[in-house]
Amino acid sequence: MLIQPKPLNRLVAAILKKGGSSNEEALVVADHLVRSNLAGHDSHGVGMLPFYVRMLKANLLHPNQKPDLLKADGSIMMFDGQRGYGQAVGKIAMEQAIEKCRETGLVLMTLRNTHHLGRIGTYGEQSIAAGMVSLHFVNVTDHSPLVAPFRGSDARFSTNPICLAMPGTKKQPPAPDVPAVLLDMATSRIALGKTRVALNKDEALTDGLVINHKGQPSTDPGVMAGYLFPERPDNPPLGALTPLGEYKGYGLALFCELLGGMLSSGGTIQPENERRNSIINNMFTLVIDPARLVDVPWMQHEVEALVAHAKGSPPANPDEPVLVAGDPERISLQERQLHGIPIDDTTWEQILEGGKTLGLSQNEMLDLKA
Ligand code: NAD
Repeated sequence: MLIQPKPLNRLVAAILKKGGSSNEEALVVADHLVRSNLAGHDSHGVGMLPFYVRMLKANLLHPNQKPDLLKADGSIMMFDGQRGYGQAVGKIAMEQAIEKCRETGLVLMTLRNTHHLGRIGTYGEQSIAAGMVSLHFVNVTDHSPLVAPFRGSDARFSTNPICLAMPGTKKQPPAPDVPAVLLDMATSRIALGKTRVALNKDEALTDGLVINHKGQPSTDPGVMAGYLFPERPDNPPLGALTPLGEYKGYGLALFCELLGGMLSSGGTIQPENERRNSIINNMFTLVIDPARLVDVPWMQHEVEALVAHAKGSPPANPDEPVLVAGDPERISLQERQLHGIPIDDTTWEQILEGGKTLGLSQNEMLDLKA
């Protein structure tokens, strides 16, 4: 089915409020999730809601938290997210880092112990909207590992995302409506949520994206079902996602642990640290005011000229023009704002089930969606 963003937003916000969130928090989280769907990242969109409901019930996700400033030392800011909704806590921590950056030109912000931060590109878009450059390295703890190290045959890391954001220009338009140059990626070949999307749609994966429990390449998203739906009795033995670009992505994932996990003081995925089957993100962020380094009109010209240079390469396949990072999300945003967000039946059922668990009736939810 196709759903327009506004009614979807209403429904998601209502479920979040039933889960204990203030109106303000519910709106921020709903907006983040729906925008992830609009950007084409269904893995980090409203399909996460049933998981959040499970985490609320297990008291592993705490509504209405604010980032706690642990340390302010010159241009260093260290926050603790207090297991709050990452989408809400992360937004506030970024606002404070951007504010500080206007003063100092460079800020190192860390945010530890926040529940799932969602689509990391959202924080890059916050910087872009403020005319700032930002770099984000994120690790995942409190969850079983999902990604095999290069040459390994079982999961040792998570999908540790990296996001790099550069403000746009008139030709390469700025956020918040559309991302500018925004690289936002898991360090695994695909994010875990993409296997959930494939499972819900009963689709096979491209070969090499996952390995089975014997370490052999597989196309079956079911090898990840045990991580996604641990309560189901008939899951196949656990497999793993594979790292992006072999040892190079594996190296980046390792640095997400060292920067995002260790320097934030949140901890890495090494097995001495607790795993309670939730998702805790720790983020290492640099925010940079480019005006402190270069002349902004010259920078904008360079961005445009560089993007044009890359896109000027004749496409190897005429149906697939050269893009730059951020373009696929921009294209998806335009299409989905116009035609609506596709939601498969299984995901829809899981969302309604999540709402019912919190006490909303099916009719109330269908009214909100109408
Ligand atoms: P992806 O593979 O769809 O895209 C990765 C990047 O590549 C994007 O910046 C995109 O713009 C760019 N890209 C895609 N096609 C391109 C092309 N043809 N030419 C040039 N650039 C192109 O994304 P992903 O790695 O599957 O990650 C999905 C989302 O999952 C991200 O938003 C990420 O932040 C999120 N994530 C979050 C967590 C977490 O713990 N919170 C963990 C992993 C991933």
